[in-house]
Amino acid sequence: MPVPRLCLSHDVIARTAAVRRRRCGTRWLPPPANWQEIIRRTWPALIRHPNWRVPGGWCDLMLAMADHLEGRQITIIEAFEDLVMGRLQVVHTWRRGVVQDDESNVIIHYYESLSASTCRECGDPGEPVRRGTGRLATMRVLCEQHRYGDVGV
Ligand SMILES: [Zn+2]
Repeated sequence: MPVPRLCLSHDVIARTAAVRRRRCGTRWLPPPANWQEIIRRTWPALIRHPNWRVPGGWCDLMLAMADHLEGRQITIIEAFEDLVMGRLQVVHTWRRGVVQDDESNVIIHYYESLSASTCRECGDPGEPVRRGTGRLATMRVLCEQHRYGDVGV
């Protein structure tokens, strides 16, 4: 089904929601344990070094981003949860001899931004929560349920 033309930030949100709806239907399901393998297998040209430290709650976001970037001349080198900022960071490079396209940078930026309001545990809406103090402080995006529970923190 074609995605209606939206501004890029809304498109990113709509694509992520569509992936989640396809995966879960109307009830929440945990991320599949092999979601990183699914991305690597489905988009082999996009992923060079599978060295990801991305929590499962962001799997729909990552699947949507990989699909969104399909056919573009970039390679994702690394993706990880930045515990200072409490959000996704994606490191990418351009394929040899390719002119950088700004839209790919913007697409990645919007998925990184979306992670800042997506629970790292379950993918529900969440917000950054600081734990600890000083150099040991970490920031993680958690929904209400995971904020007050002890799951994964
Ligand atoms: Zn949650």
